[in-house]
Amino acid sequence: MFDNVQPLVVTPQPMPFESYKGYILRVAEANGYRSIHGMLRHAGMTENEIRSATPDPEKLKRLVGSDLSEFDFLSEKTKHSRYQVLSGHRIPSLYLRSKHTRVCPCCIAEKGYISSFTELKYAVVCPEHKIETIEECPSCGKGLDVFRPGLSKCQCGYDFKHAKAREVTNHAVVGLMHILKAKLENQDLNRSLLEPLGFPVEAIAKLSLNTMLSLLYRLEGRSADAQPNSDVMATVTLAASIFTNWPRGFHKYLEETQGPQADMASTGLRKQFLPIYETLFKNGLPKDEVAFMHQAFVVFGQSQWRKALIHPKLQQGGASNIVGIYGLAQALSKQPATLRKMVAAGLIPVHAVNAKGQALFEVTEQLVFEFSAGQSLTIKEAAERLDLPVAILNVYRQKGYYQEHFMTNPMKLFHERDVERLRSELVDGVEFISNSPQDIRYISLKQIMLKKLGPSVIKAALIEAIRVREILPAGIAGDKPGDLLFKRSQIDETISSLAQKFSGMVSSENASEILGVDAKVVKSLIKANALEAYSTDYGIYVIEESLVGFNQSSMQEYSVNRA
Ligand SMILES: [Zn+2]
Ligand SMILES: [Zn+2]
Repeated sequence: MFDNVQPLVVTPQPMPFESYKGYILRVAEANGYRSIHGMLRHAGMTENEIRSATPDPEKLKRLVGSDLSEFDFLSEKTKHSRYQVLSGHRIPSLYLRSKHTRVCPCCIAEKGYISSFTELKYAVVCPEHKIETIEECPSCGKGLDVFRPGLSKCQCGYDFKHAKAREVTNHAVVGLMHILKAKLENQDLNRSLLEPLGFPVEAIAKLSLNTMLSLLYRLEGRSADAQPNSDVMATVTLAASIFTNWPRGFHKYLEETQGPQADMASTGLRKQFLPIYETLFKNGLPKDEVAFMHQAFVVFGQSQWRKALIHPKLQQGGASNIVGIYGLAQALSKQPATLRKMVAAGLIPVHAVNAKGQALFEVTEQLVFEFSAGQSLTIKEAAERLDLPVAILNVYRQKGYYQEHFMTNPMKLFHERDVERLRSELVDGVEFISNSPQDIRYISLKQIMLKKLGPSVIKAALIEAIRVREILPAGIAGDKPGDLLFKRSQIDETISSLAQKFSGMVSSENASEILGVDAKVVKSLIKANALEAYSTDYGIYVIEESLVGFNQSSMQEYSVNRA
């Protein structure tokens, strides 16, 4: 019977990127049908076919006398799948609303057909006219469907062309609509529209239409976070704001909307922001296409949020990261065990401690710099370069005077850059004095180091006093720290005060005064190891602490023994 179908009198040809259902409606209207229903019945379609998303094109072809090649339909085999073809794009039905296609009243008035763009679920704004598309009759409130009498006519008789256009002032939303339409119609993106909005145009240009639609679909679930009972316009507005001033719009959204709901019992960035992370990155979006969003997510964690571990796998690089010990090990190319020791020694600052008690570290450019290349020296090599005794350098470091700006592996070594800095700090700016070694008024640092000054900490403290110029060298006889020259009178005074200041030593004379005993008693107490003391080139010094608690009775005991 279908072979007997008479072609229609008026058979308009499809327009580029015209909605298929819009075309059917246009043809029906042109031929005086009050609805597509009667026309499609005439074409021999069943009720189901008429009401399907894609009324059988084969039957329509006979009616319009055209092969309808413009529509590029799905093959028979796949037409019942959850995909539809829209202007040549195979799109999940999920992202479409073909049965309730919106309309732009201005487009209908100007062009006389309905664009396939408005079949997209998210086509809430016409990017050309910058007005909201209509999804329901402004007069009777009925939702638009394809069974109305005409392109711009409602069943109630209202003509949408008379509808008051609702202008859209949100340029980012208009920009997003332009992106959807351009991708659907295989057009280049309008950079002069998108760049002033700060959209990541290069990255968006690489997104397929389906990825873009999927992002919107995914954000639709999240737009309820910001606004319960939100509609499609809210979703579109959210997506547009996320792309605005990229990545600041995205970061703002993460901070202000997702941040307050972050799961702070979790340690990792991904888990803290699991809902939005899974929304954007889980299941199926092409990784290379959304890499720019993923990277922006990591950057957010690194530079703005800074309250989460960022798993090395999550990272795409970046200047400043919050990481755990393993992330730190990867960033600095060191063994975690080595770094743990450095952390314990306070060489690497702990940025924060997470809910599980794990230390978080900030991989700053500074930290990476500290681990930069350079030779590690043994203490013997370092002491040679510094022209200092090994034992004194050892104490100098133990007492915390040695400034470590660079890390060595193993950590007990000395980084050549730190050694060089110390060397130059000791000798820089000191005036050269010729023939000075013979001058009895001066003593060199090398000579001082050979003197007996008591505990090594005194010499270490002296070196530090020289480095920070608490003691000013009188000059230098060569180019090594050992060649530094000091006035004897000045250095004697300094060493005497250092002895008291840095190791709590008092002279044996002072000790006898403190204890109220004869100087000979002090000597015998030292000999009996009852007092801790050092014999120095400046006489015998007693460690002040050993005097404390040394009471009269025990002193008498020693006095008796001595007698
Ligand atoms: Zn329009
Ligand atoms: Zn109406």
